[in-house]
Amino acid sequence: MSTALVPTCPVPSQAESRLDAETTLFSEAGAAVSPDMLSRVLVEHYRCPSEFLKFVQSGDEAGAVGYFRFGPNICYGHANSGTLPSEAKGLLEDVSLETVVAEGTVALPFDPNEIVDNLRLERYPHRRLSRCENILKKAYYSLRPFTNQSVRKQIQKFRARNWQNLAFPRWPVDTTVEDICESLLSLAMQASGAERVPFVWFWPHGIRGCVMMTHDVESAAGKDFCAELLDINDSFGIKASFQIVPEERYEVPSTLLEAIRGRGGEVGIQDLNHDGRLFDDRGEFRRRAALINRYGQEYAAQGFRAAILYRKPEWYGDLEFSYDMSIPNVAHLDPQRGGCCTVMPYFIGKVLELPVTTVQDYTLFHLLNERSIALWETQVGLILEKNGLASFIVHPDYVRDRDTRTVYEDLLAYLRDLREKAAAWFALPREVDAWWRARSQMSIVRHGNSWRIEGPGADRAVLAFANNIKGKVVYELADEKRGAVSASKNAALSSSNDFLQNVVRPSNDEKQYCHHRGRTLWSLGSRSPQGPRC
Ligand SMILES: [Zn+2]
Repeated sequence: MSTALVPTCPVPSQAESRLDAETTLFSEAGAAVSPDMLSRVLVEHYRCPSEFLKFVQSGDEAGAVGYFRFGPNICYGHANSGTLPSEAKGLLEDVSLETVVAEGTVALPFDPNEIVDNLRLERYPHRRLSRCENILKKAYYSLRPFTNQSVRKQIQKFRARNWQNLAFPRWPVDTTVEDICESLLSLAMQASGAERVPFVWFWPHGIRGCVMMTHDVESAAGKDFCAELLDINDSFGIKASFQIVPEERYEVPSTLLEAIRGRGGEVGIQDLNHDGRLFDDRGEFRRRAALINRYGQEYAAQGFRAAILYRKPEWYGDLEFSYDMSIPNVAHLDPQRGGCCTVMPYFIGKVLELPVTTVQDYTLFHLLNERSIALWETQVGLILEKNGLASFIVHPDYVRDRDTRTVYEDLLAYLRDLREKAAAWFALPREVDAWWRARSQMSIVRHGNSWRIEGPGADRAVLAFANNIKGKVVYELADEKRGAVSASKNAALSSSNDFLQNVVRPSNDEKQYCHHRGRTLWSLGSRSPQGPRC
């Protein structure tokens, strides 16, 4: 994945805020959602019994649409509010003040599934390319072979200017999805009075988080460096996945694929020809997807990544791959801005998304002019705090020079150190994919006075508990002999859930009962003018 950026020109504000209409992968915003369905994202995230999760949506589900805050978390979607802005800047309304905990239930002024899906699928207004920019983009990629790196860098820097002013998604790592899940679980536990909720720990054997190294092979020079890169990786005991461009960039001899696999690595497909136009046209995408799928079979590849992290997840149904790795966590410095705001894998239809959660080497070296691993270390720290997946893109093409190779070796030394401390599971993408798919089929069932994980692959899974300590969710493994218990215990302590103190908890005197969708609810008059409508 290169980080080629394109020139830009002024964009009409409507074009910036237009959401893609072809986004029907998940529940429709504004559609009637049953209370049980409101806990879908939490059940997916925790694999916990739904009996602990009682949510209702207050007010009019159609509501206003726009940006709002849920405590410190910036969200986009429908909320029980007046008008909401279409830009994530300035003072945003905090709808946590409209959240009510009572009678064993949490009444939310929004649908949590819609809010989380909007983040993961980047279904929020952000800067998209205008017609003018699309023309310039095509011109740029036509002329790109005739430009040198210095010219490209200047264009890229111009395109990325002012990125520090963007408040959303949160740089350098956005964990809004995880933060929302923790807050909702905490509220659900307060509502139900549960002291702890069992769930399936995020990674095998109770390990704290996951690390994944990937190499996108951009050019013949990068391809020729793969053998040396395999040696470098081996000297640190790190295995990686190599994403190969099947057409136009370089010859792909079977010996290359065999060499990667023979050394314990994985082969994935990167785009078709890396021309930056994969998602320009629906019909052309279908044609290319058929070829990409054929190469996937030929290379026995289970995973896909689009060139330059261009993406349209609503078209992923045409890809016959088990997983995709094209969606960045926060994309301020990528040609296609946005970000999925999560450090965990998630499903897009049948495809599992393994998000790109750290800055790419090219961006670090050539846009940020960094020659240290400080930013990578900061990102890994933030990701492991949330027990997430730290995924890297390092190009063989960009670590051939001595200075950048040294930085990459520093990164490998840092990761080796993490592994020796058993702080993370080092896995190939296909192993992460297999685990997350297995976990998604596991369930927790009551077994006498305790709980048991059931489902294929449950022998690798570890039962964990979420404890609610002073409004903060703190994780704990059931079997303290296994895995990185102390790390996971502290993992969520840093979560900023203080805003939950502001959630409305009506006293008996204050409650005026009413009926909402077959459930007994309450309205709070002056304290919560936009509370549940009856
Ligand atoms: Zn690439």
